[in-house]
Amino acid sequence: MTSTPSLRDLPSIDKLLQHPLTGDLLAAYGRSLTVEALRSILDEQRQAILEGNATAVATPDTIVQTAHDWLENILAPTLRPVINATGIILHTNLGRAPLSASAIAATNAAALDYSTLEYDIVSGKRGSRTVHADKLLQRLTGTDAAFVVNNNAAAVLLMLMALCQGKEVIISRGQLVEIGGGFRIPDVMAQSGAKLVEVGTTNRTHIHDYANAITPDTAAILVAHHSNYKIIGFTTTPALDELAALAHANNILLLFDQGSGALLDVAPFGLEPEPTVPDGLAAGVDVIAFSGDKLLGGPQAGILCGSKLLINQIRRHPLARAVRSDKLCLAALSATLTHYLTGDVLQAVPLWQMLSRSLADIEKTAVIWQKRLKENGIKANLLAGESRVGGGSLPGTSLATKLIVIDSKNVEKAASDLRAADIPVISRIQDGHLVVDPRTVLVHQEKSLLDALIKVFIGN
Ligand SMILES: *Cc1c(COP(=O)(O)O)cnc(C)c1O
Repeated sequence: MTSTPSLRDLPSIDKLLQHPLTGDLLAAYGRSLTVEALRSILDEQRQAILEGNATAVATPDTIVQTAHDWLENILAPTLRPVINATGIILHTNLGRAPLSASAIAATNAAALDYSTLEYDIVSGKRGSRTVHADKLLQRLTGTDAAFVVNNNAAAVLLMLMALCQGKEVIISRGQLVEIGGGFRIPDVMAQSGAKLVEVGTTNRTHIHDYANAITPDTAAILVAHHSNYKIIGFTTTPALDELAALAHANNILLLFDQGSGALLDVAPFGLEPEPTVPDGLAAGVDVIAFSGDKLLGGPQAGILCGSKLLINQIRRHPLARAVRSDKLCLAALSATLTHYLTGDVLQAVPLWQMLSRSLADIEKTAVIWQKRLKENGIKANLLAGESRVGGGSLPGTSLATKLIVIDSKNVEKAASDLRAADIPVISRIQDGHLVVDPRTVLVHQEKSLLDALIKVFIGN
């Protein structure tokens, strides 16, 4: 005989708190959150009973177990490590550039201890946080001064606000670009209070187009790198040194949103050449802006380089305080820049390891993985393919790679099962097949990747 469950049959909070399994919850989650969890489960039970939906009263064991799930769910981290098997090296959605070991160590040290963030050891007085990456950047780029902010979007906005507010800025129609994540050059110009003066056409802008647009109200010419798309065919844009000569003859500035932050020439790695940061400064650019986490291979940052006079003007602008970088970023950035000076950037910085990795080396890894999969009864094929730089860098260029192709009846389901792995695997679907590109899989994640592939594809 069953009786209808009644509210009286539900255990009290006090009783649940004394339940043997609750001890673990209290230790792991603390009292207040644990009580909230138990209350929330009890409330659900009460509601079900009142509405006549309960067939039986939940046991204390069940209530505590459900509270455990509730707590795990509330505290589950949303920023989790993943395995990037897409072959897109700078995947903006996957956090762009992984850091070098020494950049990670520097970040740890800055997090663990107090630091000289804004403190001068010699004088015992207040110092400036702007000094940290400054000297390294000067040496690497040939600039007089540098200023690091939160990201390149902030760097461009700050540069325009501090140097061009209320004045005209000339830009080619071919460069009125949207970089992704809603960063649109025209919108940033509008926000900065600079007046946009468009010249030329989408595919062709000549030096005289710029010259004709200069008025007494002009503050600068802005060049924005086409970082995520390419105009090919019948195109013209004046070289940076031509624009610098024109700007300086008219007492206005040449500003360059270089974007990628490439300090090295990428051509030797089989990628399409683009002006590096030192190239831009050598051509006469007055202030250059670029990201820290694209081709520089460091943490998220926006970096401005230029003359002392202009960089100081930027540093003193009220917005500079709002977009300044934090100590963890400065630590990681300085350590990353050091690799360029000591000459071990190709070995030490993951981005450059991936960019410079030879096809033969990738193929070797692919063959090993194929063998491991075969030992587990999974048939995988190797296929010539392409990796991409991504992250809005080097549009239209790719690197030859060797892909692992695994057949499955339901490709979408296989991809989603891989994403559900302990360390989620982000794969690529190409022509209806699931593919994995060894180029972007970090060495310490190889085992997790293979475990996930075996688990998902076994018997599939
Ligand atoms: C990537 C990029 C930006 C935005 O940089 P973030 O560091 O992502 O804020 C701006 N301009 C150009 C040309 C870019 O390539």
